[in-house]
Amino acid sequence: MRVGIGFDTHKFLEGRPLIIGGIEIPAEKGLAGHSDADVLLHAIIDAMLGACGAGDIGEYFPDTDPKHKDASSIKLLRKIRDIVADRGYKLINVDAVIIAEFPKINLYRKKMLENISDALQTDVERINLKGTTTEGLGYTGRQEGIASYAVVLLDRF
Ligand code: MG
Repeated sequence: MRVGIGFDTHKFLEGRPLIIGGIEIPAEKGLAGHSDADVLLHAIIDAMLGACGAGDIGEYFPDTDPKHKDASSIKLLRKIRDIVADRGYKLINVDAVIIAEFPKINLYRKKMLENISDALQTDVERINLKGTTTEGLGYTGRQEGIASYAVVLLDRF
């Protein structure tokens, strides 16, 4: 078995949709980024790549490539699932945390879990999502951005 960790941050920007876990969440501002800036999925992607020793998200989807402009991170996650499988690994579990004062993750957790388990073609029980705040401290506390961590465990086929 092999474990991987992922971390990502995106800052808030007016005029962008807020997309987390493959869901567009009603909000006054979204997250800045070359792709759809799905901070949760980017952390999960990096954790999956890390666990199978396959580098990081930037190697596969460089933000200099116009092809990935506003790309759906759910689609990117599906590509990463294939890379992990090609390397001979299957998913044991994902555990992730979203650090944000807004939105409240509880309201969207079920749909996010469905989206992620569907993209990874795995049981929803293998995915765990948590939301937390930093109690007003730091850049997430000031609502300047959102951060996410993920840990992934893989096993050989
Ligand atoms: Mg990112």
